[in-house]
Amino acid sequence: MKQGSSKKSKMETQTLHSDLEVYLNGSFVPKSEAKISVFDHGLLYGDGVFEGIRSYNCLVFKLKEHLTRLKESGHSIMLELPLSTAQLADAIIETLKRNRLRDAYIRVVVTRGEGDLGLDPRLCRKPSLFIITDKIVLYPESYYRNGMEIITVPTVRNLPEAINPALKTLNYLNNIMAKIEATNSKYNEALMLNHQGYVAECTGDNIFILKNGILQTPPTYLGALKGITRQAIMDLALRNDIPCQERVLTRHDLFNADESFLTGTAAEVVPVVKIDSRCIGTGKPGKATRKLMSAFRDLTKREGTRYTL
Ligand code: PMP
Repeated sequence: MKQGSSKKSKMETQTLHSDLEVYLNGSFVPKSEAKISVFDHGLLYGDGVFEGIRSYNCLVFKLKEHLTRLKESGHSIMLELPLSTAQLADAIIETLKRNRLRDAYIRVVVTRGEGDLGLDPRLCRKPSLFIITDKIVLYPESYYRNGMEIITVPTVRNLPEAINPALKTLNYLNNIMAKIEATNSKYNEALMLNHQGYVAECTGDNIFILKNGILQTPPTYLGALKGITRQAIMDLALRNDIPCQERVLTRHDLFNADESFLTGTAAEVVPVVKIDSRCIGTGKPGKATRKLMSAFRDLTKREGTRYTL
């Protein structure tokens, strides 16, 4: 059974309340007034960087790691963040408090700012920074219980020699193309290969397999984001005596895996039970997957940057 036709399966940043306040360039403004110039190069050229972060019961998960990745992505594209890491953390917490959110999805975006119609970033004198905090709608509960099905799509992940996929920039168009290709075929998520045909990741999640008791995930140099959830899972695997390796993987390796799952800030850990119509293992979420899902949920309850409402 293909997935993705149901409206309910939409995830990520669905806005669930309309009176939310957005942090925009140093002020808090109602959602309806949170506007960016049409001359902003983030909009005109996808020139900017972003992060998606979660808070669980007033604990912001891996805040430091997300802010480091944001800073490093900015540094690579020569975009200096307008706030220090500590100031950014304060602004995020203040946005969560203003919206009285215990459990939230946090989107931090820094764009090159307003310029003219040309490419020249030197004409963008001030970066734009905004922070949106909102409720999160994950994949349908059934995906976590029964696993999801994914499909390989023709659009490949960015070449590391072009815009390195390790950078989390506003240039998501080829991931969006991949998502369109998947949803055209009534699947909710796409498996993306790199230009050499090796497995890279999915459109918004990293991928893992388990084979003969060894957890495996593609090395990020093959064209994947250094996922923060991916790293958390690798750490948890170690603690749970599940050996874990970064390995070059082909679709053949995936088809013949015993288990598979995706990881990401929005999706958390979601089992994959079919890839390109091939059953993975028993066709049900495997034991190691379920163990890591539960260990991850426990971790999000325990660890994070605390705030009070
Ligand atoms: N890959 C891509 C392309 C992503 O956009 C994301 C984030 N949604 C991930 C992987 C997962 O990364 P993280 O665990 O840091 O959210």
